[in-house]
Amino acid sequence: MSIQTINPFNNKVVKSFEEMTPAVINAAIAQAENTFETWRKRPFSGKAEILHRVAQIMRERSDQLSALITLEMGKLYVQSEGEIALSADIIDYYATNGEKFLADEKLNPEYGEAYIKKSPIGVLLGVEPWNFPFYQVARFAAPNIMIGNVVLVKHASNVPQCAQAIEDIFLEAGAPKGLYTNLFISGGNVSAYISDERIKGVSLTGSELAGVSLAAAAGKALKKSVLELGGSDAFIVLEDADIDQAVAWAVIGRMNNTGQCCVAAKRFIVVDAVADEFLTKFKAKLTGLKVGDPMDSDTQLGPLSSEGAAVQLADQVQRSVDAGAKLILGGKRIDRAGAFIEATILTDIKPGMAAYHEELFGPVASFYRVKDEAEAIKLANDSPFGLGGSVFTADKKRGEDVAALIDTGMVFINHPTWTQPDLPFGGTKRSGYGRELSRLGVEEFVNKKLIRFS
Ligand code: NAP
Repeated sequence: MSIQTINPFNNKVVKSFEEMTPAVINAAIAQAENTFETWRKRPFSGKAEILHRVAQIMRERSDQLSALITLEMGKLYVQSEGEIALSADIIDYYATNGEKFLADEKLNPEYGEAYIKKSPIGVLLGVEPWNFPFYQVARFAAPNIMIGNVVLVKHASNVPQCAQAIEDIFLEAGAPKGLYTNLFISGGNVSAYISDERIKGVSLTGSELAGVSLAAAAGKALKKSVLELGGSDAFIVLEDADIDQAVAWAVIGRMNNTGQCCVAAKRFIVVDAVADEFLTKFKAKLTGLKVGDPMDSDTQLGPLSSEGAAVQLADQVQRSVDAGAKLILGGKRIDRAGAFIEATILTDIKPGMAAYHEELFGPVASFYRVKDEAEAIKLANDSPFGLGGSVFTADKKRGEDVAALIDTGMVFINHPTWTQPDLPFGGTKRSGYGRELSRLGVEEFVNKKLIRFS
C-alpha cells in the first residue's frame, strides 16, 4: 500500500488508499477529453467564476486544509496557513488575468498581415510533489484551466488526503467532472500513461530522478514537458551587505518548510571580510530552536515530511562528515519519535563530498567562506543545479551585475528566492526546463498559431 497518510510527527499510519486500476484511469482520461471540448469553448468569465469560487472555498476552509497539510507532511501549521493563502491568491490571479494572456498578438511582417492566435491544447498531466501540496498544484492547474486546458493530477503518494481535497473543492465549486481529476497512481507507474495520445502535455515538479524518467517517456511519445526539479541555491553575502538583515533572511531561506523548498537557500557563500560575523550570528539563530508538534504555534522546528526523508538527509550529512566536512551545529537525528533532524551547519565542504554536489532537502546549511565576489560567483555556479539564488549587498547595481553572472533561472537581490502569483518560476541545468506562473508559464501549454491573410 504505497498511497498513505503517515503523520511524520509520530510516524503512525493514519489512512491508506488503493491505487486506481488502469480501467479507472482510462475512464478518467476519457472524461477529461470530453470535458475539454466543452470547457475550451466556455467564455473566460465562466471559467473565472469557478476558479474564484475554488479560491474562496480554500480560504473559508483554511483551518481544515492547513491541518491536513501539517498532518500529512509535517509543515508548521502557521506555514500551512500561509500556503493555503498563497494558493488561493494564485488561483484568483489567473481567474482575473488569464484572458489577457491569451489575447491575439499582432505581428508586423514585411508582407501581408498576421497575428498569433493562442489556443489550449487539451488534457494535461501534472505530477506534483508533497512539499507544498496545495501551492504546487495551484500554480500548475489554475493558469492551465483558465486558458482552457483540463488537468489530471498525480500527486505525491504521501499527501493523498490533500490530493483528494483539491478535487473535491473543484467539484464543489461547480467544475464539470473531468476539469480537475485526482489520480491515485504511484510514481513508478506514471510513465506508462504518458504515451496515451489523449494526454497532450506533462508537467512534473519533483526530483531529478523522476524528471529524467518522465522526460524520457514524454520524449518517446513526442510530447511537450515542463520540468521543475531540485535546486541547491546559493545565498551570496558580499562585504557591503547589512549582515543582520542577511542573517535574518538566511534563517528564513534555509528553515522555511523545515528546509524542504526547492528554492531554499542551501549553500551560504560569504566573503571572508564578513564570514566570521555572519557565521556566528547565523549559528546563534539556529541554536536552540524549539522542537515539537508542528500543530503547536510555538514550535520552531518540526519533523521532515517522512522517516525516509530524515534517514536520507542524516546519511548525506554523515557521508559529508566522513569525507572531511566539519559540523559546527547539529548533524544528528533528534532522539524522539518522528522524522526529526537537528538544525545543522556544515563547513569545510570540498568538491567530492555529498554536501557539495547533492541537494540537501532539510534544515542543513552548507557554509562556504570565499575570498571575494569573483570566487563567490564561481562557487555558486559550480553546481549541477540552476534553480534560484540570492545576493546580499548594499549596492543594487552590484547585486544586478552579480545576478547576471549566476547560471540559474531566478536570482533575488537582498531576499531569498521566493514565489508570487505574477512572477515566473523555473530553472536551468539539472533543475529542469520551462516555467510555471506568469505569461511564460501560461504559454507552455498553448498552441501559438500563426494566422496570416493577404
Ligand atoms: P519525487 O520523489 O520526484 O516526487 C515528486 C512526484 O514525482 C511525486 O508525485 C512522485 O510520486 C512522482 N514520481 C516519483 N518517481 C517518478 C517517476 N519515476 N516517474 C514519474 N513520477 C514519479 O520528489 P520529492 O522527493 O517528492 O520532492 C522533492 C523534490 O522536488 C526536490 O528535489 C525538490 O527540490 C523538488 N521540487 C522542485 C520544485 C521546483 O519548482 N523546481 C518545487 C518543489 C520541489 P510518488 O510520491 O508516488 O513517488
